[in-house]
Amino acid sequence: MPDTDRRTFVAGAAALTAASASSAAAQEGKSAAGATTPAAASFPKPPFPVQRQPWPGLASKMTPRPDHGEQSYKGSGKLTGKKALITGGDSGIGRAAAIAYAREGADVAINYLPAEEPDAREVVALIEAEGRKAVAIPGDLRDERFCRRLVEQAAARLGGLDILINNAARQQTRPTIADISSQDFDDTMKTNVYAPFWLTKAALERMGPGAVIVNTSSEQAGDPSKDIVDYAMTRAAVLNFTKGMAKQLASRGIRVNAVAPGPFWTPLQVSGGATPEKQRTFGQSAPLGRPGQPAEIAALFVAAADPSLSFSTGQIFGASGGNGQPA
Ligand code: NAD
Ligand code: MG
Repeated sequence: MPDTDRRTFVAGAAALTAASASSAAAQEGKSAAGATTPAAASFPKPPFPVQRQPWPGLASKMTPRPDHGEQSYKGSGKLTGKKALITGGDSGIGRAAAIAYAREGADVAINYLPAEEPDAREVVALIEAEGRKAVAIPGDLRDERFCRRLVEQAAARLGGLDILINNAARQQTRPTIADISSQDFDDTMKTNVYAPFWLTKAALERMGPGAVIVNTSSEQAGDPSKDIVDYAMTRAAVLNFTKGMAKQLASRGIRVNAVAPGPFWTPLQVSGGATPEKQRTFGQSAPLGRPGQPAEIAALFVAAADPSLSFSTGQIFGASGGNGQPA
């Protein structure tokens, strides 16, 4: 093709691409509020039916059921051959990460509470459907000895440990500080702060260069709600821990990142994490006007551990529907 023809062809192709992009944008602009993509148009919006499950709750009993990416997540080999342990991998955000990791080529161990076995069984089946190894290790993270055993067993059964996702958490709404008992406070701190500390310590005994720790923080770290103050302070602690450990481990070639979600539709919110009123209008105050579905955050957990993002450590990856980042 002569140069002038080539220029005309390239310019024409660019114009066509721009036209189709703007027509796609126009299509999306027409879709319902909170629909940033055609897929997001079908994600549920408030009002939600008020529901209450005993803690820790099951995703399989929620109405509507959360979308963890079971049908939609497509992998592209970003984590091929990696071995990952995900706490709270049975449901919600942790389940979405587990599905994504398996589809990106990782073998995955999940931890959860014994009462969550039905949710965990579904996740094991989803991981195995990808031809990846699934290891299920139930147990209570408030116990230091169990945390050590969990890391040991996960590493032994997976044949190593490249990625630790500290994702499990306890959130129980209490109207005032007077309503938070010392036992409550202790349970929240043990689950949300001590366990990531114990698990990180144990994991580092087995991790080498290239390994990654991914923590789960929250928009609550920088903008706490008035009725979950003990929980919110733990999300700030995790954010800070992420940044400090990233500095400490840089010389070992180990990265530490965090994902900070905004409101997400998960069992945490229907098993004591939110008041009935907050549940009904859940996500309404986010600029997108709805909560995120776990499927919409899985790719950030992949990014946080993706070996190609080798300069990204101490980073906070966010998904909060327009409310910005805690740090
Ligand atoms: P979820 O209920 O699906 O997951 C939390 C998990 O924590 C449970 O599945 C359970 O297995 C685990 N867990 C709790 N206590 C435990 C214990 N003592 N021992 C072992 N496991 C225990 O809810 P989710 O919303 O997906 O929560 C995952 C993470 O996301 C948490 O770190 C939470 O702080 C964070 N987060 C959630 C939201 C949201 O709106 N859902 C917003 C910001 C941050
Ligand atoms: Mg669960």
